[in-house]
Amino acid sequence: MPAMLIKGSEISKQIKEELKIEIANLKTNNNLIPGLATVLVGENEASKVYVGAKEKACKELGIYSERIDLPGDTKEGDLLALIGRLNKDPKIHGILVQLPLPKHINETNVLYSIDPSKDVDGFHPVNVGKMMLGEPCFLPCTPHGILELLRRSNTELSGAEVVVVGRSNIVGKPVANMLLQKNGGNATVTVCHTGTRDIPSHTRRADILIVAVGKPKAVTADMVKEGAVVIDVGVNRLDTGLVGDVDFEPVKEKARAITPVPGGVGPMTIVMLMKNTVQSAKMHEGLS
Ligand code: NAP
Repeated sequence: MPAMLIKGSEISKQIKEELKIEIANLKTNNNLIPGLATVLVGENEASKVYVGAKEKACKELGIYSERIDLPGDTKEGDLLALIGRLNKDPKIHGILVQLPLPKHINETNVLYSIDPSKDVDGFHPVNVGKMMLGEPCFLPCTPHGILELLRRSNTELSGAEVVVVGRSNIVGKPVANMLLQKNGGNATVTVCHTGTRDIPSHTRRADILIVAVGKPKAVTADMVKEGAVVIDVGVNRLDTGLVGDVDFEPVKEKARAITPVPGGVGPMTIVMLMKNTVQSAKMHEGLS
């Protein structure tokens, strides 16, 4: 039987509706409007699309949004000064600097300059460290979205064999860590990468297989266990359209559930950013 589709496009809508209610209540009961600043440096077309989508989501939900577009030749010092101002601005609860930055700017300096209490992307080392320790923090949006997809599709996490293919700082490592936590997924987690000797021997054991590699068909049907839940994080632009990292059609025949691309993990990332912004606003006002 073909796999059930785990539709991030629908699950993200449910979460948006929940957030709309929460945001309206914060306004009515606490006179609080969550605020997100998005900073874009330069003319990267894909980045413009991402920032535009984040701005649109803020408007839709009732989050105050401040978009700051800077020219590509902006000096690092000027960007750091802007972040310093946003760190102190009481209307702003979340600061997002769209990556990649132009080459003359040191990304690490910029990300580390964001006040960790406004780091709604969850990239600051303070938040990364807290996540490792299993303490409350801003969880990075794509891995957090993956956990939400698994939970809302009633996937049993505790005790599951999870295999993650890919170990990037923004997807592979954090999702593995979140699933490992006793108070997170409580799963048994294996992480594969280009140094792994026999990747299929690992993936074939997975009850839950998460693929974040950035290569079409990196995972084929022979690498998947019958009845597995497959989360395809990849976004690859081909002439034929967008595809993930998983060979979707044959794997769909073998898996119990699978995320489509597009419409799977992608829509979850923005909605988790909105959720983090609301969480930050509540924290700053002493409401959580
Ligand atoms: P990345 O930084 O390029 O990392 C890719 C990882 O995959 C690396 O750890 C690399 O291993 C590993 N890898 C590459 N080829 C492999 C292979 N053949 N077998 C096993 N491992 C392999 O990528 P990323 O930022 O994690 O993104 C991965 C994909 O997810 C991309 O398509 C990206 O566009 C997509 N993505 C989607 C969203 C979303 O919201 N839907 C968000 C973020 C990313 P090494 O460490 O050994 O080099």
